[in-house]
Amino acid sequence: MSQLSEADRYLLERIRQSDGEAWSQLVTKFQGRLLAFARAQRVRQADAEDFVQDTFLRFLRGLDDYRGEASLETYLFLLLRRRIIDAVRGPRLHACSAGESAGDAIEAHFDASASWYVRKDEQRNQDRAVLAQSMIALIETLRQELNFRDLQLVEMLFYAQMRNEAIATMTGLDSKYIALLKHRWIKQLRAQIVNALDPSGDASGPGDRQDSLLSEIWEQYRPSCPKRTTLGGYLLGTLDEPWTRYVKFHVESLGCRFCTANLDDLRRETAEAHDLFRDRVLQSTVGFFRGS
Ligand SMILES: [Zn+2]
Repeated sequence: MSQLSEADRYLLERIRQSDGEAWSQLVTKFQGRLLAFARAQRVRQADAEDFVQDTFLRFLRGLDDYRGEASLETYLFLLLRRRIIDAVRGPRLHACSAGESAGDAIEAHFDASASWYVRKDEQRNQDRAVLAQSMIALIETLRQELNFRDLQLVEMLFYAQMRNEAIATMTGLDSKYIALLKHRWIKQLRAQIVNALDPSGDASGPGDRQDSLLSEIWEQYRPSCPKRTTLGGYLLGTLDEPWTRYVKFHVESLGCRFCTANLDDLRRETAEAHDLFRDRVLQSTVGFFRGS
């Protein structure tokens, strides 16, 4: 299941034919949000630039292995995160800051999350794609129903992997009720999870493994992340109230690092556009102040 937009697919095709102009377009398109992501991990400015440059290099080197399993943006974010973890040898960097307190049991798989792309395990990749489809369908339903409460719960459970008690504290809901909802959603996704976890059909694997698989796939597909245009609308204050509250939750409470990087980049773009416009106005009015 390809996550590539038409525009990105076309861009990639040209890059694969060694079109330098297309490569320059790709770098221009993504460099801002990648730099914002790196800086947000409190690495020095010079390091952030090195890491991003390295990420683009790695991307080119691995071009043959990338088949659109994650969107271009997500793929680049994951490569960059991998690069930063390698360099600082720090703890794993969860996609959501709210997920940072998740337990040790799920620690191990995260380091692998960017490397599985190069694994040529077609069957497993297909299983994951099926599970991802059912996740995307769940998110779509919740969005269409404008059921932002459950959408937020699903994100806290499966994207940030927060514990029921932590979610209860944050939302004021009863943790038993959250456990019940979680059970229901897992059941809904279950047939696919069983396949993706264990093709032989043994579903008795530990719960943590299910959780971490869901979280891993969530990072790859990011089914609930608002589009960049929606984040732009949020900045400009043009979204409806429920959406504004939801995006605020996604960025501030859940702390999605990918969307935060996009927002930082959009803010910077807006500021630069303002500066350019101000320069233009000042240029055009400079005569009024000459010789006065
Ligand atoms: Zn996000």
